[in-house]
Amino acid sequence: MGKPTGFKEFARETEAYREVSIRLRDYQEIFSGQHEIEHLQTQGARCMDCGVPFCQSSNGCPIDNLIPEWNHLVYTSQWREALDRLHKTNNFPEFTGRVCPAPCEGACVLGITSPAVTIKNIEHAIIDYGFEQGWVTPAIPTSRTGKRVAVVGSGPAGLAAAAQLNKAGHNVTVYERADRIGGLLMYGIPNMKLGKDIVQRRVDLLHAEGIEFITSADVGGSGENAISIQSLQQENDAVLLATGATRARDLDTEGRELKGIHRAMEFLTANTQSLLDSKLADGDYISAKDKHVIVIGGGDTGTDCIGTSLRHGCKSLVNFELLPQPPEQRAEDNPWPLWPVIYRTDYGHEEARYVYGKDPREYSILTKEFIGNGEAQIEAVKTVTVKWAKDGDGRWQMEEVPGSEKIWQADMVLLSMGFLGPEHYVSDALGLEYDARSNYQAEYGVYATSVSGVFAAGDCRRGQSLVVWGINEGREAAREIDRYLMGTSQLA
Ligand SMILES: Cc1cc2nc3c(=O)[nH]c(=O)nc-3n(C[C@H](O)[C@H](O)[C@H](O)COP(=O)(O)OP(=O)(O)OC[C@H]3O[C@@H](n4cnc5c(N)ncnc54)[C@H](O)[C@@H]3O)c2cc1C
Ligand code: SF4
Repeated sequence: MGKPTGFKEFARETEAYREVSIRLRDYQEIFSGQHEIEHLQTQGARCMDCGVPFCQSSNGCPIDNLIPEWNHLVYTSQWREALDRLHKTNNFPEFTGRVCPAPCEGACVLGITSPAVTIKNIEHAIIDYGFEQGWVTPAIPTSRTGKRVAVVGSGPAGLAAAAQLNKAGHNVTVYERADRIGGLLMYGIPNMKLGKDIVQRRVDLLHAEGIEFITSADVGGSGENAISIQSLQQENDAVLLATGATRARDLDTEGRELKGIHRAMEFLTANTQSLLDSKLADGDYISAKDKHVIVIGGGDTGTDCIGTSLRHGCKSLVNFELLPQPPEQRAEDNPWPLWPVIYRTDYGHEEARYVYGKDPREYSILTKEFIGNGEAQIEAVKTVTVKWAKDGDGRWQMEEVPGSEKIWQADMVLLSMGFLGPEHYVSDALGLEYDARSNYQAEYGVYATSVSGVFAAGDCRRGQSLVVWGINEGREAAREIDRYLMGTSQLA
């Protein structure tokens, strides 16, 4: 695939983001949006006819995207065919092309000796070009089965399942407790990484294909927007739970009750909501303006807190990481084609470096105490440095370094330490079983829960994960529901 000698002729070149100095002034996407066709063709040409494309194997793309095929089609300028090939395995390439960490590139065979093919950039360009050309239109099913399916939750898992079930001819209704559809695509991942017009464009397409969406519908809840899960069971032939892993991990540390300490999702969700409702004019968000901000925890959520705080105009910014700084290159116990656990600089880190002249991340830091100013407001954070070493069984153990206490000034602390699994009120109302990590119990590849006719997919089943895994599980769960309803399924 590609050009047999392309990987020797052309170097890997990713598409640049917008200038930091400019993008920091707005909440528009960090991407330039200008895909240069010639550049993409030479990048596609680097796909090297490796024989066994690990990029689309189990270590690579979770939805088995037909990567070498569309690389070749881009190289030979067959964009329409590339788009069709991409849509065969991915319902939402405009989401993954923007936010996927690209495990495919970690497993690219070229990556053994040279920098991997820029797979994610190419995917992004194919779908953007497809929309530009007007090739992405609603695919309305030609016949209906008469079966009804309710999907609870409208993140990537719920939306992918709804798209596939609708394609199979079932009548699908998606219930979402938020006021907008999209799950974390809408109220989690900030505008800078994924424009909300991009999310809404796909939701509109799905609606035009026949899917019904009901927002502000809290299934199993008890407030004014509550809808009973039993009524959904009665009115539908199957129910899919795709409610996400929304229980955030907290920090049970002295001073946690002080004002100015927030969970990352309170901060990020309110910001997006206010942006969408009023371009922040309603002031209905938690502002980091002129504040000394500390973000505790890394990952995508931590980076998004950094990017958002900088756009508010924070005074200073530090990001604590409990783990040590990863190596620049793969460690010996992290060989190809595994996901490379290496030091990476994401958009928020780059922006913080631009503003403050240094990377905001501080590694091997443990938070010991939140210190107040006497008026119940956070004023500082006390930390210690930790050392990591393997014990006799090869397990990593953490040890505090004596005398390493440090006090950091802070008016605002954002807790970004991951998620513990799904909330339990819908599942308890159903009497569902849980796995050992308190996720909804349902086997991967099967998705049936302990209650007949009720399925589960995405982060509520597998725990906190990625958009691409949500799409994978949504698609597969749709196939299993189709089989449950019809006895057989043509869905991939
Ligand atoms: C800040 C942040 C940044 C991220 N960045 C990235 C990234 O860059 N790349 C990446 O691949 N992944 C990223 N992720 C992870 C990714 O967003 C998730 O793995 C993915 O969205 C999970 O999809 P899901 O459909 O399972 O659940 P979700 O997207 O969480 O959607 C679940 C939906 O169910 C709704 N819901 C829950 N309970 C009910 C109920 N009882 N009734 C009705 N509706 C209900 C919720 O309101 C929510 O809208 C990020 C996550 C966060 C928090
Ligand atoms: S969805 Fe992610 S893993 Fe799959 S091809 Fe796209 S960037 Fe790679």
